[in-house]
Amino acid sequence: MFEKKPKLTATKNKKRDIPSGLWVKCADCGEMIFSKELSKNLKVCAKCNRHFPMTARERIASLADEGTFHETDADMVSVDTLKFTGMAAYTERLKTYQRQTGLADAIVTGLCKIGGHDVSLAVMDFSFLGASMGSVVGEKVTRAIEKATELKIPVIIVSASGGARMYEGILSLMQMAKTSAALALHAKAGLPYLSVLTHPTTAGVMASFASLGDVIIAEPKALIGFAGPRVIKETTQQELPEGFQTSEFLLEHGLLDLIVHRKELRDTLSKMLQYFSGNSGCKFKAA
Ligand SMILES: [Zn+2]
Repeated sequence: MFEKKPKLTATKNKKRDIPSGLWVKCADCGEMIFSKELSKNLKVCAKCNRHFPMTARERIASLADEGTFHETDADMVSVDTLKFTGMAAYTERLKTYQRQTGLADAIVTGLCKIGGHDVSLAVMDFSFLGASMGSVVGEKVTRAIEKATELKIPVIIVSASGGARMYEGILSLMQMAKTSAALALHAKAGLPYLSVLTHPTTAGVMASFASLGDVIIAEPKALIGFAGPRVIKETTQQELPEGFQTSEFLLEHGLLDLIVHRKELRDTLSKMLQYFSGNSGCKFKAA
C-alpha cells in the first residue's frame, strides 16, 4: 500500500512573519542595529555614537534613581480651544498621538532623586506631535518649576521640541513668557536650573526655558536653534557656516556650557547637583 501523499500548500504568497521594527538602520553610519541592543545602549549607535531620540519614559529611567520617580499632573490633557480645523482636526491628532505614544501630551513631569539629590524633572517627548509646546506642555513645565521653588530644590528640564504648537495659536506663544517667569522666581530663590538640550530643540522652546539654564548641557550633534537654516539664509542673505545649529558649533560660540554623551549624563547631573548643594545625598540648601 502506498501512503497518501501529504497535501501540498502554496507558500508563494505567504508573508514571512517577521516582527516590524526588529532592526534599525543608523542614519549616520548605515549600521544595522538590533533594536534591543540599541535600547540597551541607551539608544546610542555603538559604532558611530549617533544619539537616537529617546522617549520621555526611557529618558526618565536613564536619569532618575531607580524607583524614585513620582509623576505629577499625569492626567492633564490639551483641549481644542481655537476649534482648529486646518490640516487635520486638533482633537483627532491629539487622540492619535495619545494612542501611539501612551502619553497624555508631549511632556512628563515629576519629582525624583538623581544621585540621591531631590529634583523636579521635566522631560519632553518628540514622538508626541514633535514635542510642540501648547498650553499643557507650558503649564506642566511651569508647575514643575513652581514645585521646585516651593520645595527649594533644583529643576532639570530635558528639552526636545519643534517649537510652539500651531493648533493653539497665541495660547502656545504665551507659554514662553509663563515658563520664563516661573524660572525667574526659581532663580530669585537662589535655586539652580539645569537645562538639557536634545535633538532637536528649536523655536519657541529654545527661545524660552530651554536657553535659560544656569548650566546648559547638550547631547552630541543635536540640532539646536530658533528659526530653521533656510529662513535665516533668506532673511540675512548670507551663506551659513558649516555645522551651523549643531551642539558642537554652539559650544564653540559660547551658547552652551557642555556637551555630554548620554552615557555620562546621569553622572554629570549628579555631580552638578552635588556641587550646587555642597552636601552629598541631602536635600538642596538654598544659598
Ligand atoms: Zn551609527
